[in-house]
Amino acid sequence: MNRVRIFDTTLRDGEQAAGVNLNLQEKLRIAQRLDQMGVDVIEAGFPAASDGDFQAVKAVGEAVSCTVAGLARTREQDILRAFEALKGAARPRIHVFIATSPIHMEYKLKMTPQEVLAEIRKGVRLAKSLAEDVEFSAEDASRSEIDFLKEAYMTAAEMGASTLNVPDTVGYAQPEEFGAFVKALIDSMGTSSLIWSVHCHDDLGLAAANSLAAVAAGARQVECTVNGIGERAGNASLEEIVMALKTRRDFFRLDTGVNTRHLYPMSRLVSRLTGLPVPPNKAVVGDNAFAHESGIHQHGMLSNRNTYEIMSPEDVGAPSSSLVLGKHSGSHAFRERVKEMGYHLSDQELKEAFKLFKDLCDRKKSVTNEDIEAILEDRVMSTMEGCRYELLSFSVQASSDTAHASVTLKVDGEEKTDAAAGNGPVEAAYRAIDRITGLSPELKEFRITAVSGSADSLGEASVELSLNGLSALGRWASTDVIGSAIGAYVNALNRLTARERVVDRA
Ligand SMILES: [Zn+2]
Repeated sequence: MNRVRIFDTTLRDGEQAAGVNLNLQEKLRIAQRLDQMGVDVIEAGFPAASDGDFQAVKAVGEAVSCTVAGLARTREQDILRAFEALKGAARPRIHVFIATSPIHMEYKLKMTPQEVLAEIRKGVRLAKSLAEDVEFSAEDASRSEIDFLKEAYMTAAEMGASTLNVPDTVGYAQPEEFGAFVKALIDSMGTSSLIWSVHCHDDLGLAAANSLAAVAAGARQVECTVNGIGERAGNASLEEIVMALKTRRDFFRLDTGVNTRHLYPMSRLVSRLTGLPVPPNKAVVGDNAFAHESGIHQHGMLSNRNTYEIMSPEDVGAPSSSLVLGKHSGSHAFRERVKEMGYHLSDQELKEAFKLFKDLCDRKKSVTNEDIEAILEDRVMSTMEGCRYELLSFSVQASSDTAHASVTLKVDGEEKTDAAAGNGPVEAAYRAIDRITGLSPELKEFRITAVSGSADSLGEASVELSLNGLSALGRWASTDVIGSAIGAYVNALNRLTARERVVDRA
């Protein structure tokens, strides 16, 4: 029992973060990397919630070797749908939940506590009749009355749930309080083979602290997400939990199965695919997490790294600043590098990626791992299913007071060109695109960042568009900032229209 299981819910709770909308291929890429990294459980979706979630749970279940969980309410149709999605999984887990706090029972469920207990009995029993591995969550546990909560978990355990999850759904708990709360629940059940789990939200910035307090109190599963993305302020961040346990092994005396060298590449992959940037000061994986600025600190570091560093960049797989490959690198070296970075490409994909890499080498003297990742993610991997719009070409003319742009898109296989004027070249290009598509989404956010830190760096644009109450993030990288801005807009439009089709079906 000195092992903490890492339950990753990036694809379920993380995907609920505002503006995030991953397609099936993107979910599969994340799941495969999580599996290679060594997480114990991947929660891939909520099969009854949408067809997209159902397909994601099914595809992830068939693709990875770790446990795959599908979320379900206690309703029969939810549980049957989760079971159906998990049929092809090597290790399926049905994750059944119902709320247990007075406010949720009264206003959301409109059920009495006795009715909730009956639901737990019925739901967990059905799940257990279908799958060996059943997890039960009492939603809003931290705001539930503890005596009722004990009864709820006891009922779930009697019906066969082997993992009992205690969520701090609204991020309300405080570490000391939450640790004692979890300990009281564990003690109430006596010694048993049950695994206690926690699921904490970051509304007060305490998700990781609360999770670790619960681990110290006996919890042996932590639910978390890459970069801490999730509903509202997000979830406990996977990399913070894993590195706290590793760096302070002297304190916790516990291990996880995660290979920490995958943490940084994983963080960048999720950031790139979701369009959510990693703040530079983010613990463990932020770009400044290992940057030493003050002279006194630098002097100390030169004498002994341990003066100001409790973990090393290599431990978390953060890249060294040295350049990786350049103009004279051959396809063999490129293939090896791509493999090292965790990509498995077909020969055709590799050929296309190598061509893009060579093009980039002509425009940029040093090509870093981040640049290669940007090429692979954007161009080779984003052959999105049901992709409506493809950017073929553009031209812009801009002066200090006016700008004109002409853009050619392929729309459902047909080439269309239009032109427009604007205050600047990007605005003009966006108007030209709107004329082609006949859509006029609202631009809610626009950002351009450098992928790596040099003057000839790739510029990566991310934009958030909203249309008819739906919003989507798009991103694109190019050595030309206007090209990235236009690419990101088209990317967001594709996500928006893909999303609209899902909503239409629901
Ligand atoms: Zn949650």
